[in-house]
Amino acid sequence: MSPVIGLTGGIGSGKTTVAEMFAELGAVVVDTDAIAHELTAARGVAMPTIIDAFGRAVLREDGSLDRDVMRRLCFSAPPTRKKLEAILHPLIRAESVARCRRAEHAPYVLLVVPLLIESGAYREHVDRILVVDCDEARQIARVMARSALSEQEIRGIMATQASRAERLAIADDVLSNTGARDELRTEILILHRRYREETRHRRD
Ligand code: ADP
Repeated sequence: MSPVIGLTGGIGSGKTTVAEMFAELGAVVVDTDAIAHELTAARGVAMPTIIDAFGRAVLREDGSLDRDVMRRLCFSAPPTRKKLEAILHPLIRAESVARCRRAEHAPYVLLVVPLLIESGAYREHVDRILVVDCDEARQIARVMARSALSEQEIRGIMATQASRAERLAIADDVLSNTGARDELRTEILILHRRYREETRHRRD
């Protein structure tokens, strides 16, 4: 199996942006958020269980999961969040591991896991942990610019995530995303080459 690099970081830190830049360089990216969206799309694999657990009030008209409604339910009642996670997490994990396995000819796989530090469940599946780091003020400003979430809601989400210090303590590699996109791209190119070289040495 190819080495798996676990990419993580707080909300708005730049995980999606970083993953896109790695993909532009030809890296294989497996994104657990994208898998979660697929599972909860209309007729997604998780939907029958979700409807059994929460009723049709959490659906959009097209039959997909209404993520805003679900998020609000989870914040007002923590057991709801646990119940949703108990349905989704095992499905997301199984699908991510299967996709990483299928990429056996790639020099490495970038596995994007927002809650890699918090859940612990992915640790055994990753060879290195790459953290995208940025200050909280920037995280909040970026999320507010891209979504309808209020500062209070974003802070609420951040409070459920690991702190910046906790993430940095566990990181094998760190990408600082406090500057311009071009600076980030340069750092990513350096890491991409390094990951590729390390695999080549290992396979020789
Ligand atoms: P995450 O996936 O960690 O939540 P995103 O990659 O979606 O974060 O980034 C959050 C927002 O900030 C997006 O709208 C993205 O386009 C923007 N963004 C990310 N990095 C930068 C940067 N270096 N400069 C300017 N905007 C950025």
